[in-house]
Amino acid sequence: VDALIDQSTSLITPSPALHNAPQLALAEKLVQLSGLSQVHFSNSGSEANEVAIKLARKWGQTHRPGADVIVTTHNSFHGRTLATMAAGGKAGWDKMFPPAVPGFRKVPFNDIAAMRDAIDDQTLAIMVEPIQGEAGVIVPSADYLSQLRQLANEQDVLLILDEIQTGVGRTGQFFAFEHSAVKPDIVTLGKGLGGGVPISATIAAEHVCCFEHGDQGGTYNGNPLMTAVALAVVNEVARPAFLQAVSDAGDKLQATLQELASQIELKQVRGAGLLWAIELDRPIASALQSQAMDTGLLVNAPRPATIRLMPALNVSTGEIDEAAQLLSVAAQRL
Ligand code: PLP
Repeated sequence: VDALIDQSTSLITPSPALHNAPQLALAEKLVQLSGLSQVHFSNSGSEANEVAIKLARKWGQTHRPGADVIVTTHNSFHGRTLATMAAGGKAGWDKMFPPAVPGFRKVPFNDIAAMRDAIDDQTLAIMVEPIQGEAGVIVPSADYLSQLRQLANEQDVLLILDEIQTGVGRTGQFFAFEHSAVKPDIVTLGKGLGGGVPISATIAAEHVCCFEHGDQGGTYNGNPLMTAVALAVVNEVARPAFLQAVSDAGDKLQATLQELASQIELKQVRGAGLLWAIELDRPIASALQSQAMDTGLLVNAPRPATIRLMPALNVSTGEIDEAAQLLSVAAQRL
């Protein structure tokens, strides 16, 4: 809030043709945290993924001539623009606003053999979420990302990670990929990056940075009002003590949900950090969501039998207990 107020009194949006100080400081911080090289700012997660797709396609034009396919995964979510809907794996989404943007092939998530089979001369990149969020918090096996990295290296294709939901501390590391000790070629951030204001980022390794002036941009991209806020957010969230507190709160949330699961016979609890899902034994998630709202707890229902919880990263243990209590009341009412 202080950053928003301070910046709003000095400079809000100059032309995007000009750099500005908070933008440069934020880019530098994200480069340092990711170990990658350059950053492009946009206004939404979808837009950051569009940038990633355009960048990969441009890289492919010179590095893999003739290749124009990005392999993505079933049930993935990458946004609501035409290209990101085509990239996403939500059933039926590629048929909603025909013609769909071509250039995407889909394989099951967490299936390295299927990914290997899908890569050929036409392929230029693999694009996945480290944990599938909208699919209902689907956590892959611990070595999935490192196997994808190895595969991408062997086949000379790019690894693009969509960390719009998992990034900015959500899983207890600044980037979820840090749990696997791999580095992507391109990673996207959104959502928590601005702590509530619209900003997203596409971060890329030096060897992929082939955009020329004019290839990508937009009136509000990297404006100082949003970048000043995001810089304040990142400076706070990236502190080791803050990330440790997210992990600790995540452990507490996991234990609390597991206890709840044993009380009210939920099928499964899964997640990481502060991104959790409860799998119910029947497709009653939206009914439970409304009951929870009536009792004073906001959750969401990404699937008919799945409830997702994504509390604020600074949630307290008392609030976690209170949430479990409200969820238990909602489940009993149902
Ligand atoms: N990618 C992932 C993994 C997401 O979870 C989302 C939003 O839910 C997006 C992309 C799209 O972001 P936005 O809604 O900001 O366009």
